Amino acid sequence: MTPIGNDSGPSGDRGRDPGGDHSGNQCGPNGPSLSPADHDRKRHERDLVYPVLSRRAGGLSVGINLNPGRECNWACAYCEVDGLVRGTPGPVDIEKLSEELDEVLLEARTGRWDTEDGPRGAAAVRDISIAGDGEPTLSPVLAEAIDAVAGARARHGLTDTCDLVIITNGSRVHRPEVLAALGAFGGHGGKLWFKLDVCTPVDAEFMNGAPFVRDRVLENLKTAAAAAPTWIQSMALAIDGRGPSEAAVEHVKSILVNANAAGADLQGVLLYGLARPSHQPGADRLSALDPKELAKVAQALRASGLPVSAFV
Ligand code: SF4
Repeated sequence: MTPIGNDSGPSGDRGRDPGGDHSGNQCGPNGPSLSPADHDRKRHERDLVYPVLSRRAGGLSVGINLNPGRECNWACAYCEVDGLVRGTPGPVDIEKLSEELDEVLLEARTGRWDTEDGPRGAAAVRDISIAGDGEPTLSPVLAEAIDAVAGARARHGLTDTCDLVIITNGSRVHRPEVLAALGAFGGHGGKLWFKLDVCTPVDAEFMNGAPFVRDRVLENLKTAAAAAPTWIQSMALAIDGRGPSEAAVEHVKSILVNANAAGADLQGVLLYGLARPSHQPGADRLSALDPKELAKVAQALRASGLPVSAFV
């Protein structure tokens, strides 16, 4: 994964997430290989916690999967979750989550997930991201998971070096229980990545499998940013061989400008090209943008006044 453009993005990102990962592809000396292009977490032994190499983070990103049944309230055309279902996850076992997280962080410290050219040991752990195989804010134990993750980061002495991230489609930020959890997450220094893909509201039905409701998105962006520092994570791809239209780019830009004008104080945009295969119906209609075309989209979005980092 190669970043393009001049702005450096925040660290962290996730397996099922559209972009994710970074350029490392070497195997650690003691463990299975991790590749940014392969986020198959079944290979990585555990149910709720999975290490991936992150394009964005420049190292190891430890994922927390609160949706092991692959439930989501959206159905993004590019989603890499095989067997994605519409629905709501049940509670995961927080004790098990903590145990698995302790194991992975300990393994990192002892070099299992080192790469040849990246940071080593505990320094390799760039972030812990709550994401997984569906929208994490659907989880009935989101608040407990946040506490568990923050506790593990402190226990392993990573508070100053490891980010905490929640990757969300943003659709449930306004719900009181979600907002309370996100506020606590912000209190732990956590960051939010809020999905806003490069497409028109009409195309959102295909792109995200959900209607685009402008006022709700603007309000949720403002609410999210008040709870924790918030970045936009945005997918740009070609549908039927055609890249994002001018109208699509203008639409995203106008949402960013209006959100900031309404006081959202967004931190920046992480713009992703299609890096891994989709497992959804219609996947054959999707293709990655040429890097130059992605760079053009990034440049256009910078007119919003926000820093934009693009990842091929
Ligand atoms: S929000 Fe989209 S990309 Fe994320 S898990 Fe749901 S369907 Fe997949």
